[in-house]
Amino acid sequence: MGYKQVLPLESEERHKNEALFARELEKYEEIRRPAILEIKGLHATVSGREILKGINLSVSAGEVHAIMGPNGSGKSTLASVLAGNPRYEVTGGQVLLDGNDLLPLNVEERAREGVFLGFQYPVEIPGVSMANFMKAAMAEKRRHEGLEPLSASEFLRLVREKAALVELDPAMISRSVNEGFSGGEKKKNEIFQMAMLSPRLAVLDETDSGLDIDALRVVGEGVSRLRRPDNAIVLITHYQRLLDYIVPDFVHVLYKGRIIESGGRDLALKLEKEGYDWLINRQ
Ligand code: ADP
Ligand code: MG
Repeated sequence: MGYKQVLPLESEERHKNEALFARELEKYEEIRRPAILEIKGLHATVSGREILKGINLSVSAGEVHAIMGPNGSGKSTLASVLAGNPRYEVTGGQVLLDGNDLLPLNVEERAREGVFLGFQYPVEIPGVSMANFMKAAMAEKRRHEGLEPLSASEFLRLVREKAALVELDPAMISRSVNEGFSGGEKKKNEIFQMAMLSPRLAVLDETDSGLDIDALRVVGEGVSRLRRPDNAIVLITHYQRLLDYIVPDFVHVLYKGRIIESGGRDLALKLEKEGYDWLINRQ
């Protein structure tokens, strides 16, 4: 009799303990989740003028961080520094990608390591078709990973799959990169490229600028679908409306080269309602 009574109790106890253990493990995993991007005390100058004045930011795998802030705060400068644009001189601090120093690497090397930058103003490359551009970029990335280039049919299959993600006409890939593309097409193209390359870290600068509501939704949903537990996205945006589609885990406000506030999604909503003044006046 004792046996029958004790068994359910025991198993109930065990289940309770297991659930407790699973929760503890989850917490532990949370803490342990590796940082993909770590920025520590980053200072940078352009034309001898200090723009970034000590940025600290840690972005873990699976996270989307939004960086907001008034015009001229240094948002695009931060994106350029992360991409390795040589016009910007890093005068202090560290940038680590998966624990490795990113700063000594040039633009191409960073791309190879899995950094993708979407520009505020995408460049046009007349005479180079999207197809050839993407083929070369993909082949380069795969070579770095010790993989053979994709076959023509595999490449096309991938193009179709990823173009659908941003409702981009796959026929566009026979056109020159961004040449004659509308603002919306350029942005969609950017997200298409991101989807093709599947970067470890994507930094998207003002992906929402110049987009009508429809394109905004397509781009926003496209980026959202590219969220993965093993990548990280830094989204630079002036407007909170993009964050309706890509819900960020963290929101940071950059002002005069420093992060002056960090919070969750609610911070973006508050900024939309109240603007930046309450933060700036607090400085
Ligand atoms: P945001 O993207 O937040 O609007 P930016 O990073 O574009 O800000 O600019 C921050 C500041 O740095 C601005 O005052 C801007 O004029 C200056 N700046 C940015 N790039 C350059 C450059 N290439 N040469 C001179 N000044 C620059
Ligand atoms: Mg900018």
